Amino acid sequence: MRSWPTCLRQPPLSLPEHLHDAIAWRLKAAQEEHENDRLFYEQSSLLLSKAASRIYDLSQRLDKLAHHDELTELLNRRAIFEKAELLLAAAARHHWPMSFIMLDIDHFKSINDIWGHSAGDDILRSVATVLKKRLRESDLLGRVGGEEFLAVLPETNLEGARILAENLRTAVEQHTVRVVGTERISVTISLGIVIVDKPQPGEIDAYIKQADRALYHSKHAGRNRATISAT
Ligand code: GH3
Ligand code: MG
Ligand code: MG
Repeated sequence: MRSWPTCLRQPPLSLPEHLHDAIAWRLKAAQEEHENDRLFYEQSSLLLSKAASRIYDLSQRLDKLAHHDELTELLNRRAIFEKAELLLAAAARHHWPMSFIMLDIDHFKSINDIWGHSAGDDILRSVATVLKKRLRESDLLGRVGGEEFLAVLPETNLEGARILAENLRTAVEQHTVRVVGTERISVTISLGIVIVDKPQPGEIDAYIKQADRALYHSKHAGRNRATISAT
């Protein structure tokens, strides 16, 4: 083992008692301060991560509010039009057919008048659920007016749209909703379908107008039916 030259050897350090106590006291204070800092940082980082997750939840809720109809939780008018534009652009690029269905509950005003507005709301919610259940994951469904819905069906041709529309119409007709006490009622829908064989980007408004005209035709022909219009 290496040993120091005699001239450099130091006697063991012996501090006067008051100095020793002062250093010990400062050391203890420093340790306590360190422990406080550690607790402070631990708690701050916990609070920060809670705040971050709350901000994330709030932004999710804001996003949902901005794009969804509160009553039915379907896409709202603006959101479905935006999303439909994107689907339309993709369909045009790939030369896929696409269909649009406008749906409107028949004589809905009388439902409100007879059973009350809150029963009307229940019916809107339940029609939305019945429709949604019958669509594919890739289809879009939105509430675009009071008792009006729009379904956007990518890669759907005449035959596909016709079958789906009939399926939607009968599903709504057969579904009953409890309104007051044990009373159950059902509603019907009229539909206007547009089949777009060669989709053109930016033409969404024209397709929806055409679906509206087809729907108007269904109403005039007696309601609870679908009218197909091809581009
Ligand atoms: P049609 O068969 O021609 O479509 O007749 P309709 O009575 O369904 O159509 P109209 O446009 O005359 O009435 C629509 C009604 O929908 C009137 C309005 O009070 C009701 N409505 C719109 N939005 C809501 C809503 O959010 N909740 C309820 N309960 N009713 C609504
Ligand atoms: Mg109506
Ligand atoms: Mg209407």
